Amino acid sequence: MEVIQGKSIFGGIAIGPIYFFTKEQKQVKRTKIEDAAAEIKRYEDACEAAKEQLGELYEKALKEVGESGAQIFEVHQMMLEDDDYNDSVKSIIETQMVNAEYAVATTGDNFAAMFAAMEDEYFQARAVDMKDISERVIDVLMGIGEAKSWDEPSIIVAEDLAPSETVQFDKSKLLGFVTKLGSSNSHTAILARTMNIPALIQIDIQEEWNGKMAVIDGFSGEFYIDPEPEILEKYQAKKEEQEAHRRLLAEQKGKPTVTKGGKAIKLFANIGSVSDLPAAMSNDAGGIGLFRSEFLYLESETYPTEDEQFKAYKMVAETMAGKKVIIRTLDIGADKQVDYFDLDKEENPAMGLRAIRICLTRPEIFKTQLRALLRASAYGNIAVMYPMIISVEEVRQIKAIMEDVKKELDDAGIAYGNVEQGIMIETPAAAIISDLLAKEVDFFSIGTNDLTQYTLAIDRQNAKLDEFYDPHHEAVLRMIEMVVDNAHKAGIWAGICGELGADMELTERFLAMGVDELSVSPTFIYPVRQIIREYDGPTK
Ligand code: PEP
Ligand code: MG
Repeated sequence: MEVIQGKSIFGGIAIGPIYFFTKEQKQVKRTKIEDAAAEIKRYEDACEAAKEQLGELYEKALKEVGESGAQIFEVHQMMLEDDDYNDSVKSIIETQMVNAEYAVATTGDNFAAMFAAMEDEYFQARAVDMKDISERVIDVLMGIGEAKSWDEPSIIVAEDLAPSETVQFDKSKLLGFVTKLGSSNSHTAILARTMNIPALIQIDIQEEWNGKMAVIDGFSGEFYIDPEPEILEKYQAKKEEQEAHRRLLAEQKGKPTVTKGGKAIKLFANIGSVSDLPAAMSNDAGGIGLFRSEFLYLESETYPTEDEQFKAYKMVAETMAGKKVIIRTLDIGADKQVDYFDLDKEENPAMGLRAIRICLTRPEIFKTQLRALLRASAYGNIAVMYPMIISVEEVRQIKAIMEDVKKELDDAGIAYGNVEQGIMIETPAAAIISDLLAKEVDFFSIGTNDLTQYTLAIDRQNAKLDEFYDPHHEAVLRMIEMVVDNAHKAGIWAGICGELGADMELTERFLAMGVDELSVSPTFIYPVRQIIREYDGPTK
């Protein structure tokens, strides 16, 4: 048995086999061949196998995410049948007398570059697909299996996990995460909390653990590999205890979230995608306080269309049945990078072209999202909020774009509901001018993750700074109070949707400040509700 001390990013116990997740680093070498016809046959067989894989993926996706999500695999199949593509691969093999892997990689790169240089955005987006299909054929040629799939529920051990990888995992087979890198405030950590799975970081991982039995103690941060029978027994008992505790908390179900003094608090859930909805519902969320819509973009291989977005937003609005659903417009950039946005590499991405800055510089992308969101608002109680705001001018610009989009819908006779507009307060600038901003919007939602990062000048992604990242810092807490006061003076409400909203050491302090809403990972709803219901102190 081995026991390793790591850092917990989400509590709980996980018991199960280890699946060692590696991003396969393939190196395509250029090698000379003797028999071009045989090499072309190898290529053709690999293409057939790749098409078969795509057919299976299509069927799977059809069941899990529906027709629009599955279509991409059909498109990829067609691309593999394209004459130009096939002719290019075969010609490279024949004229240069080189291996198929090299010919496919070269063709993939050339075609991708060609598409990327086109004016039309649709064709630009095909560059990613070109690369993707070429990678698939190369994997078949090199005998590399499909990553990201394992058979039984497992503990995933990895060097690091990007949010875009995490969202693609089959959640029913995820018992927990253990990574070497990563920080407590990264989006992967937030995802672990949303998915309600124990997770540890800063563990010196080893590939030879693959397949071994393991235990994550998300309370102490310990990771057991090949645990002794008595340890296993102890943790099985602890896991049952934990589940019993959850059942007890579930007694909070259906109870109003009201303090003893009678102030009703909106206790909402944070979600990243439609698949988090069952967790929000089963934990009795009063609404959705933060739908991180950028995950729709992260899960996709190209810009999600208006219809794809509309379907996702409509589904959340309908499922929440009249309860408020606050959709945050895309917050791409910083640690949430998407290839097809083709953003320049930046020295300081957290302070770079991200979130609303992308939307204001590329209004077509923004307008598509707003149209989808407005259309979905006809089916429920949708509100919208904008991330990373720093000025009144930005808010006015956004509102003008929103008016344009509404006008387009009016002209086309398309119905939409009454959508409240709010902003995230997650920069010190926004907090300090919150008196001015409050006059422009319907509500504030405080993003304490970024507010802490920018106030303390501490990169939330840098694990080495975890000990300095102190969201309880008086500077952060005073800003929160100031924002709430300014909201109330202007007659609007203010909530917290950053991770601090679920910090139960602070719940009473937030109530005393007069915070109107707390939006937390679904799993924290009951414990926070319990504290709110027992609170008999003052509220502003
Ligand atoms: C925040 O910054 O607190 C927030 C809720 O947004 P995100 O964590 O997605 O950046
Ligand atoms: Mg943020």
